[in-house]
Amino acid sequence: MTVAQPEGLNFECETGNYHTFCPISCVAWLYQKIEDSFFLVIGTKTCGYFLQNAMGVMIFAEPRYAMAELEEGDISAKLNDYEELKRLSLQIKRDRNPSVIVWIGTCTTEIIKMDLEGLAPKLEAEIGIPIVVARANGLDYAFTQGEDTVLAAMAARCPKKEVEAEKEERNAIQKLLNFGRQKEEVAAADREYVDHPPLVLFGSLPDPVVTQLTLELKKQGIKVSGWLPSKRYTELPVLEEGYYVCGVNPFLSRTATTLMRRRKCKLIGAPFPIGPDGTRAWIEKICSVFGIEPKGLDDRERQIWESVEDYVKLIRGKTVFFMGDNLLEISQARFLIRCGAIVPEIGIPYMDKRYQAAELKLLEETCKEMGAPMPTIIEKPDNYNQLQRIHEMQPDLVITGMAHANPLEARGINTKWSVEFTFAQIHGFTNTRDLLELATRPLRRNSNLKDLGWDKLVKEAAEV
Ligand code: SF4
Repeated sequence: MTVAQPEGLNFECETGNYHTFCPISCVAWLYQKIEDSFFLVIGTKTCGYFLQNAMGVMIFAEPRYAMAELEEGDISAKLNDYEELKRLSLQIKRDRNPSVIVWIGTCTTEIIKMDLEGLAPKLEAEIGIPIVVARANGLDYAFTQGEDTVLAAMAARCPKKEVEAEKEERNAIQKLLNFGRQKEEVAAADREYVDHPPLVLFGSLPDPVVTQLTLELKKQGIKVSGWLPSKRYTELPVLEEGYYVCGVNPFLSRTATTLMRRRKCKLIGAPFPIGPDGTRAWIEKICSVFGIEPKGLDDRERQIWESVEDYVKLIRGKTVFFMGDNLLEISQARFLIRCGAIVPEIGIPYMDKRYQAAELKLLEETCKEMGAPMPTIIEKPDNYNQLQRIHEMQPDLVITGMAHANPLEARGINTKWSVEFTFAQIHGFTNTRDLLELATRPLRRNSNLKDLGWDKLVKEAAEV
């Protein structure tokens, strides 16, 4: 299938020699989101060390994840994989009694070809707990794509038909919105919705953001039938053929494909609700699919921009360079360009031009409207080359990982740690201030420190 390409954008591909988090890090936010889950990462000490360090203080809070550390005997097949996994899964069942165990496959399970997908159904039947398998390894994916593999696996587990008795149980957000209301009031509230086919949103977001986006759509008369993932595994949304689905994050292309191909859902390809411009475009696209005339979005967007003008002022006219490690880059760059920034380069680990088509189009339109130069989008960037370009360009802000942040700061270049954007609440109209707060923090801090004359502490000889 050929896809119309946005014209003005320039796409390039480098060597893939870049820093990012391993996709197994998705357990850190998914175990918190899905409250009755348990994540078992089947890998080596390398994976364990990474998780232990990357999750910071969270590891002291008895997280619902564990490592199944492979030993020599597992790798040389002296031990029986099935028996080993059964022993561990039974222990998890006994100690935590989760509603689902998610096995995360790693590089090692890939290389020794451990057949997790084959073992899971058998073990599931034996121990009586659903086992979902996601191969979120560093060989194939980057960082947030880990969530994509888990959600794609979960999409297969969403029930097909709604059982009447479970209806209310399943839609937890709706229950929350109706809390304390009489039956008649609920029926009256239901009439506020326009009659449209069921809509399920996908992407893991913190609960407050889920509520905000659900209410945002409710204002347009659109009812959200469910979210993938939901707060509990037992509340996964019903998916029937012909349901509409829409993503909230740019890294969910496999989930989108699974929903379309395996569950026969219709995908609404919209820009992502990051920044007020993105949120507005996201809502407008969903409205247009259901034939609804959006109300009050103009005013809403304008008010938000006015309320954050103090932050926007800081970013206007500044050059921002994205090294690329979490796939949120296109949406963030589009938002910053709308704020008046100039973005010469957007690095990104993986670019699905089909799933991100609407976002790329909005990026292009935004550049034209703001009179900003079109950025170059570099897929699979090479960090070494990027550092040379940063050295030549001297951008005002580099959005990058921790590996390069301090070395760049020491060379007088402002940096923002990219991973924070993944964990902060950045979606929807109401979180615009938080998003800008993060992006402008280094600019504010460094302008406060500038008077001290300490902005370049590395020896001149140590050039990047
Ligand atoms: S890249 Fe592979 S070996 Fe390294 S932590 Fe990730 S899964 Fe484990």
